[in-house]
Amino acid sequence: MTSSEFPLSLQRHQFAALEPGPRLLVLGAVHGNETCGTRAIERLLRELDSGALAIRRGLLTLVPVTNPLAYQKKQRQGERNLNRNMRINPAPANFEDRIANVLCPWIAEHDVLLDLHSFHTGGVPFAMLGPEDNRGDIEAFSHAAAEQRMAAHLGTTRIVEGWMTTYARGVERRRKEGKVSAPDLLDQGYGVGTTEFARTRGAYGITLECGQHEDAQAPEVAYRAIRQTLALLGMADIALQPPQADIEIIRLVDVIDMEHADDRFTRDWASFDKVQKGDLIGHRQSGAAVTAPDDGYIVFPNPRALTGNEWFYFGVKSDRRL
Ligand SMILES: [Zn+2]
Repeated sequence: MTSSEFPLSLQRHQFAALEPGPRLLVLGAVHGNETCGTRAIERLLRELDSGALAIRRGLLTLVPVTNPLAYQKKQRQGERNLNRNMRINPAPANFEDRIANVLCPWIAEHDVLLDLHSFHTGGVPFAMLGPEDNRGDIEAFSHAAAEQRMAAHLGTTRIVEGWMTTYARGVERRRKEGKVSAPDLLDQGYGVGTTEFARTRGAYGITLECGQHEDAQAPEVAYRAIRQTLALLGMADIALQPPQADIEIIRLVDVIDMEHADDRFTRDWASFDKVQKGDLIGHRQSGAAVTAPDDGYIVFPNPRALTGNEWFYFGVKSDRRL
């Protein structure tokens, strides 16, 4: 691809109500092959354009395609994963760095972020929730109550938390063991995606994984989530549904790297497969067993991970209450 084929701009649609109120940003296709959010935003835009739906309070910003290069290629990323190392880059080195330089200020202009994604293997939709209120170094936060409330209204029965602390733990171990080939993975800021960046700017937000990439229901899940967020924030005349009952919350506690290209899982793990403490998960190339450190779940397994990169995450049932 020549440079002239690279997208030259990022498109956003903005609806500013005359009545002040919350400022909501909705992102689609941060990963280019995850198009449920794009479809949901297009559907909402038709309703807003026709007058079938009106923004009564606050500011609504819709970005249907957040990574236009990846979207054009129908791939997860263009030149790198946009949803990592989200920051302003004074010397942008690739397409995603340049997108981040436009996107980060947009995120900072809002109070609430809904980032719509989909995933590779099967399973039910889930929401990625930020930390509890804290003043720590890893991810200081003071809007946990509002964020939890939002998560409970997005229609999912599963919530995952603990991303940044688990990521920091992985960085710490990689530093100590010195086994890592990818320098990015030693960077504390590598774990920062859209919602993590939003939290550094005083906002809160949820990444919603709406279903499998090709699932016809995923755009519906995304569409409903946008509308329920508008309802929750009082931005439109939409009835707020009761919060989802029986939500399962899983706390990520560890990230286990692929150490050698011949490290192997014992079976085709799907994300959120349950394991008991001591269960065999895989074998290192040396033959050493990799076992479950506790009763819990295999999360985001990647049998094709590159050496020195995340092989799978380990999660446990969280005692957090929404
Ligand atoms: Zn994604």
